[in-house]
Amino acid sequence: MAYDYDDQNIFAKILRGEIPNATVLETAHSLAFNDITPQAPDHVLVIPKGPYVCYDHFADAASGEVCRLLGVKPGEGGDGYRMIANSGDNGVQDVQHLHVHILGGRWLGRMLQKPRPE
Ligand code: 5GP
Repeated sequence: MAYDYDDQNIFAKILRGEIPNATVLETAHSLAFNDITPQAPDHVLVIPKGPYVCYDHFADAASGEVCRLLGVKPGEGGDGYRMIANSGDNGVQDVQHLHVHILGGRWLGRMLQKPRPE
């Protein structure tokens, strides 16, 4: 997967303060803010402040155990993938030990199903 970072992407503009956002938390290395079209009552996006296209780009550029945790090696992103970490009842976490799902190998469609009817 090529790492071709476009600094005109919407999140880069948010980081530069060119577009407003509803900040939830900001650290020296990351910004968390509400998604503009939430797909659940809480839908927060967390982004690194560095210019990284995807996780394996980040892992390529950064160092440390966290980046190596998932074993997604630099340059192995292929045609794309999705990382999901479920938590608690609402996240439908079955196994109570932190784990991240990595999915790929086909087009995966949109992220969430519609909410369950009342
Ligand atoms: P992706 O489809 O790339 O995984 O997710 C992009 C997300 O960014 C979408 O959920 C979309 O609603 C959100 N998004 C797109 N533009 C903006 C924006 O200008 N502000 C905020 N807060 N979220 C945005």
